[in-house]
Amino acid sequence: MDKRVAIVGAGISGLLACKYAAARGFTPAVFEAQDHVGGVWNHTIESTRLQNARPTFEFSDFPWPSSVEDMFPTNFQVLDYLQSYAHHFGLLPYIKFNSKVISIDYVGDRIRSWDLWGKAFGCQGNWILKVIHTKDNFTKEYEAEFVIICTGWEIQWFPKYSKVWSWIWGRDIFRQSVAFNGLISSGENEWRL
Ligand SMILES: Cc1cc2nc3c(=O)[nH]c(=O)nc-3n(C[C@H](O)[C@H](O)[C@H](O)COP(=O)(O)OP(=O)(O)OC[C@H]3O[C@@H](n4cnc5c(N)ncnc54)[C@H](O)[C@@H]3O)c2cc1C
Repeated sequence: MDKRVAIVGAGISGLLACKYAAARGFTPAVFEAQDHVGGVWNHTIESTRLQNARPTFEFSDFPWPSSVEDMFPTNFQVLDYLQSYAHHFGLLPYIKFNSKVISIDYVGDRIRSWDLWGKAFGCQGNWILKVIHTKDNFTKEYEAEFVIICTGWEIQWFPKYSKVWSWIWGRDIFRQSVAFNGLISSGENEWRL
């Protein structure tokens, strides 16, 4: 069975999700509304710098280049670092740029696959993502066994998550762990990063 993981967003969270999904043998497809990786680091004002110290914003398997000596790198250096990560680990072929997800629906019974994360599993249903390919101006539906939402705080990018919203917030329905980058909800506990 082809274990497909749809990942929405190619900021730092989406890049990490893509890398580790691929490493575990899943088939990731990253949908990115814009035409580049790096998310918010493409849109910061010029004076922006990393607010936390560089060692606390470092991939465990991809150190900052030695040319970056400042403890608080500039926005350009951060963006360059994220782009280099994507190139280094060969993530670009997985990313569909100019591809904005406009809805996500789950078709099938409740998800049981989470219990089997990382193992061979059978799915009760599929996620259906409707995507607008903005450059070529057409809409297409994609299916996946898993969806990882990595849209940062720009939740307004999603006009409608259809059933996903009620499942995330309706924990009586959706009891498994939900990672919504920035916000993690698991059963009764909920906390923000
Ligand atoms: C000005 C500023 C300064 C910051 N400084 C720091 C800092 O110093 N240290 C720190 O740790 N964090 C900082 N942050 C937080 C920042 O959000 C994180 O560093 C990190 O970029 C978040 O990555 P992300 O992948 O979760 O989200 P993002 O970087 O926001 O990426 C989300 C991606 O999802 C895409 N997307 C959204 N909706 C859709 C859709 N419907 N379909 C397809 N694609 C979609 C977007 O185009 C974007 O590329 C800062 C944020 C801002 C705005």
